[in-house]
Amino acid sequence: MTEKGSDSCLICGQKSLEPLIFIPDVPTLCNRLYASEAEARNAPRGDIRLSYCPDCDHIVNSAFDQARVNYDGRFENTLSFSPRYRQYAEVTADRVINRYGLNGKRIVEIGCGSGDFLRLLCDPGNRGEGYDPSQPNSRSAAGHGSVEIIGRNFAVEDAHGADFVCCRHVLEHLPKPMDLLRRLRESMAIRADAVVFFEVPNGLFTLDRLGIWDIIHEHVSYFTPSSLMRAFHNAGFSVCSADSAFDDQYLWIEARVATQPAAPSALPKRPLDGLYSSFCARFAEKVAEWRRRIDLLKSNRRHVVIWGGGAKGVMFLNLLRVPAGAGIDWVVDINPRKQGHFVPLTGQRIVGPDCLLKDLPDLIIVMNPEYEREVRSMIDDMGIGCRVVST
Ligand SMILES: [Zn+2]
Repeated sequence: MTEKGSDSCLICGQKSLEPLIFIPDVPTLCNRLYASEAEARNAPRGDIRLSYCPDCDHIVNSAFDQARVNYDGRFENTLSFSPRYRQYAEVTADRVINRYGLNGKRIVEIGCGSGDFLRLLCDPGNRGEGYDPSQPNSRSAAGHGSVEIIGRNFAVEDAHGADFVCCRHVLEHLPKPMDLLRRLRESMAIRADAVVFFEVPNGLFTLDRLGIWDIIHEHVSYFTPSSLMRAFHNAGFSVCSADSAFDDQYLWIEARVATQPAAPSALPKRPLDGLYSSFCARFAEKVAEWRRRIDLLKSNRRHVVIWGGGAKGVMFLNLLRVPAGAGIDWVVDINPRKQGHFVPLTGQRIVGPDCLLKDLPDLIIVMNPEYEREVRSMIDDMGIGCRVVST
């Protein structure tokens, strides 16, 4: 049986959700590698239908279709090649290591990717186990600790007796996020002092600051601060701390198994009605404005490249409906595993920064403003003096 998107709230169960936006015909998996332009242009397509819950401020993609999403060995979303991202990951790891005294502990990570974050957590002398079906099995030293990567889906029993469970940018991909949280809480109940640390994209950033290139088919959920708190509370956790990070693009939460659930009235909720009701119009305006800019650049024969071949770059090209050959031909990415591959549906080639020296660009569009400074510094070092803007 395959999982389809839900028509009710995945967090609080509210049945009458309000429609937010419908986006047809987008790649079903942005970070999958396509080896040829033809294969990329024929990548699986899906729709996005977002609704929001007036009770808990959660946003749900009811058009999600798990049958079209496969996180296998051709899934690649490592961000650790960016110095800015590495700095963020190091600060985050240091914070939880110090706050929860992580030394000589057993740490489990759900969806660990290549294990870079888990290695940071294990550095002081912890034993890490990371679960991820897109990775091969491996074992390695990590500073004073060790990391084992297990190339399969995490099962809640894996967290039994763990001191610290970490899960970053996974919960929003799950058709039933509350199932994971509730069963994880049960599995961890033997250790009242055990801590969970979760990080997700910030749905409020998408709504409020129009981070619209983060809206992707494979995100079933968009958590806001209110719905993230509600999720952990409803699953029986007691929230230790929660905040936004990375210029508000992410939300994180740290929680323990609750012995006494907090009163629901203690949960914060910010009135978001205005943001929801204006979102569809603001979304369309932003897409149309970029479309005009790209058309103008094309008619002036400007050489424009995108910097960032992750979800944001893929969705920028797909929402603007700019196929390769129609104004933007290259997407630059510093992750060597992405280079030589192609953007799903629109078909642009993903290249390394060195390619820019062969055909100097007039304009670089940086998909994530957080990386603009490092992009400027990199192209300065290469002697490329073109304009750089962020979306
Ligand atoms: Zn809800």
